[in-house]
Amino acid sequence: MKTAKYILALDQGTTSSRAVLFNHDGNILAMSQKPIEQHFPHPGWVEHDPSEIWYTQSSVAAEVIAKADLTGLDVACIGITNQRETTIIWDRETSMPVYRAIVWQDRRTADICRELKENGYADMIQEKTGLLIDAYFSATKIKWILDNVEGVRERAEKGKLCFGTVDSWLVWKFTHGRVHVTDVSNASRTMLFNIHTMQWDKELLELFGIPEAILPKVKSSSEIYSETSTTLFSTKIPISGIAGDQQAALFGQLCLEPGMTKTTYGTGCFMVMNTGKEVVKSENNLLSTIAWKIGDSVTYALEGSVFVGGAAIQWLRDGIQLINNASESESLATSVPDNGGVYFVPALTGMGAPYWDQYARGAILGITRGTTAAHITRATLEGIAFQVYDILKAMEHDTQRQSLELRVDGGAVANNFLMQFQSDICRTNVIRPQILETTALGAAYLAGLATGFWRDTEELRKQWNANKEFSPVATEEEVDKQLHMWHKAVERARNWEELA
Ligand code: ADP
Repeated sequence: MKTAKYILALDQGTTSSRAVLFNHDGNILAMSQKPIEQHFPHPGWVEHDPSEIWYTQSSVAAEVIAKADLTGLDVACIGITNQRETTIIWDRETSMPVYRAIVWQDRRTADICRELKENGYADMIQEKTGLLIDAYFSATKIKWILDNVEGVRERAEKGKLCFGTVDSWLVWKFTHGRVHVTDVSNASRTMLFNIHTMQWDKELLELFGIPEAILPKVKSSSEIYSETSTTLFSTKIPISGIAGDQQAALFGQLCLEPGMTKTTYGTGCFMVMNTGKEVVKSENNLLSTIAWKIGDSVTYALEGSVFVGGAAIQWLRDGIQLINNASESESLATSVPDNGGVYFVPALTGMGAPYWDQYARGAILGITRGTTAAHITRATLEGIAFQVYDILKAMEHDTQRQSLELRVDGGAVANNFLMQFQSDICRTNVIRPQILETTALGAAYLAGLATGFWRDTEELRKQWNANKEFSPVATEEEVDKQLHMWHKAVERARNWEELA
């Protein structure tokens, strides 16, 4: 019998469903992608259609195999990675969703969260789940569906419904409703999972009024959950790896040792540090979370996010139309020797960790008559890097560890100026890997380890190759001066918006 030579990674993201085929060397053979529609029924609400999530994801899965001129028989196993926290509830009998998927960005439950904080639940919730109370996480979204969609609470209590994050939903659909599972990394983003006991937490379920019967079984991140039952692949393929997108990227970057950190520079920037066996409780508004579980061994992580990263470049392009395309930002920024004293705090939607200030707004400071579009563009890129610096320092503070290097990925790492500047201000090496599809790669690795496609992580480590490494060249004096000005600018941007 022919041995299957490839792994299929399914990357169900916020804006698209993607499928990537990897070979044994961890190289990409083929890729396929379909966008998904964003629904905004009210200001602050964001929804996806679960059926669309399923049909785009299943069709790109079939398409990528055909594109590579292969069949399902060539696929050893499937790994799934997904947008996290997004909440779906469906009928156990019919598999019909009872409501659209409520997307992580959706703010409709902000008031429930405010009330929880006012009632003093923040410490207990952070202690158990590692999370700060926020509408992002699934718990209040589940509660909202149970409280607002007719008949749903009653059906949930009778055990007729299933809740799942996107990974659970996809496994359910791929197995024709036989298997209702999630992995620990996704469970740890629901705000219902105790990351110490590794179980759904009864006290939290009671607090949110969520019947345990609707929850999926929590599994490790690398094991055979089931084989597919769909006719999509002409054969049954094991599904053997699941992780939330940021955790999958950490694994794909092979940040397998405590202290290793990856940062993704996309629309926002997401930094995740492996903290090993230890749950690090942050004093700086970072989240403690589960990175993955392999066998019986659980690895934890610390996470911080910048809301506006590459989005600041989008704003230069589409908002004030200073540039024609994102890559032009690099040539424009390097057309001037320095920022000319201009600092841009890209707090366009408030500031994330470590400031956590929803009232902060974007500010461009230090403008003179000599300021040009090039200075503002340079200040924008620098502003992205300064925000990442602030998170890194918070992580180093919380973990009492110094980062030796930063592994990076995401669309904006194509910008060499940004990467060099990041290295300069963090005084650490910034390493861009050859394979930038780290999220999909992480899911493939987790799946392949479970089926013996790869022997162990040692074998994987050999596959990781840098595309380019940036080392600090700026003097300490220069950097200190810039950091001083940046933090001064941040103070001006904070608490800007006033409560109505
Ligand atoms: P997401 O997954 O969040 O959609 P991507 O990883 O695809 O994001 O990255 C896209 C982001 O990267 C956009 O916000 C874009 O402005 C930014 N970007 C892309 N190329 C560059 C570049 N050369 N310089 C700076 N930013 C860039």
